[in-house]
Amino acid sequence: MFDSLYTIRKNLDSRSITMVEVVRHYLQQIDAQNHILNAFLEVYPEEALAQAAQIDQKLEAGTAGKLAGLVMGLKDVIAYKNHKLTASSRILGDFRSQISATVVEKLLAEDAIIIGRQNCDEFAMGSSSENSAFGAVHNAADTSRVSGGSSGGSAVSVQSGMCLAALGSDTGGSVRQPASFCGVVGMKPTYGRVSRHGLIAYGSSFDVIGILTKKVQDSALILEVMAGKDDFDATVSSLPVPPYSKLLEMQKQPKIAYFGNILESKSLNADVRNAIMGKIDFLKQQGFTVEAIDFPYLDYFLPTYYILTTAEASTNLSRYDGIRYGYRSSNFTDLESLYKHSRSEAFGDEVKRRILLGTFVLSASYFDAYFTKAQKVRRLIQQKTNEILTKYDFILSPTSPSTAFKIGEKASDPIEMYLADIFSVQANLAGIPAITVPCGQDQNGMPIGLQIMNQHFAETELLAFAKYLNGE
Ligand code: GLN
Repeated sequence: MFDSLYTIRKNLDSRSITMVEVVRHYLQQIDAQNHILNAFLEVYPEEALAQAAQIDQKLEAGTAGKLAGLVMGLKDVIAYKNHKLTASSRILGDFRSQISATVVEKLLAEDAIIIGRQNCDEFAMGSSSENSAFGAVHNAADTSRVSGGSSGGSAVSVQSGMCLAALGSDTGGSVRQPASFCGVVGMKPTYGRVSRHGLIAYGSSFDVIGILTKKVQDSALILEVMAGKDDFDATVSSLPVPPYSKLLEMQKQPKIAYFGNILESKSLNADVRNAIMGKIDFLKQQGFTVEAIDFPYLDYFLPTYYILTTAEASTNLSRYDGIRYGYRSSNFTDLESLYKHSRSEAFGDEVKRRILLGTFVLSASYFDAYFTKAQKVRRLIQQKTNEILTKYDFILSPTSPSTAFKIGEKASDPIEMYLADIFSVQANLAGIPAITVPCGQDQNGMPIGLQIMNQHFAETELLAFAKYLNGE
């Protein structure tokens, strides 16, 4: 019953379970597993139980919201009023948020319950959730392996049944890659579909709030509630939000493309290749048109992504100065040394690396050589991606080139770690929506993910196809 909101809600409506019992179930799961998995940084038992008791009354009165029954977690970059918010970094110290993110307010208004705050890579920078100041997250399928990242705590919480759904952030794959490492569904909406008011900024022209669930159906319902216009975020589109959860049947046989040059390449992990090729063969047998195409700019995805996001991050993270938030060094002589010591002591290595890189690419002598050029390449990648999506309905690929690796295995090699994002960054560079659904396992039993991308604001079709592929 605890795999989908639909079944939980059915049981609530027929009174075979109460909301208080549902919350108790998740609290027990957290008690039993979190000390091993390290997915939640903080849990809110009393509040969750109090909210549950109120929702039970609303269920009785027939006034419960669309999301009654949903118990969810928030990645530690999404603001929840009067709760701690740290981006898994020491620099925010004991900072408590004075506001809730717009998405959080919308979910609460429909009676979702937030049960806790979830561990992640510091400031969402990473692909393994090892960059947290509060220890690595462990994959529930094999606790010696990483969860993926940066929304690792969110993915593992859903994977292990410590909550039903979670919100993460996706700048270059941080919802989809951990979802694929943990065998759950991870959805990144179109850039501008969802408000980011209350999301700690990393790369502002890339950042999107995404959803992790076991079922595509649940993602559709959550997106329907949280998407749409917001006076606090001018980047949100005013396009109307379709009732995604009611539009989950495919309307036509889609035409599908995949990048032949990567999928057929021998350098891709063989189990990943076989799983994705197996799915493609299956689709062909079902009568779908699935064609291999070439993408000319593949080698530019990661350099473009890392130049632009580090540049944006270096600007966004300048506000953590030791004065305004949380941590302040006690070791200083003047204002400048207060800034320097606070930042040097409280930021982790990966965050420092990116601030340095970003400051470098924005410096006067290198601005045109790196930043301006990367902006132009980004435009080419966007144009080419859009061109493909006028001929095809979807682009299929693996979500990540490998499955979950061992904790510590790639920690000393940033380039190797950045390669984990090779398939996921395209959707953020182009601003299009993308979703990952589970697609079998490798020979060690670790989950593999299949990624689907499509046109801007075409989430309805994306979710319908994903539901089909997820066998729902
Ligand atoms: N792994 C990528 C990075 O480190 C993606 C992060 C994200 O999407 N937040 O930048």
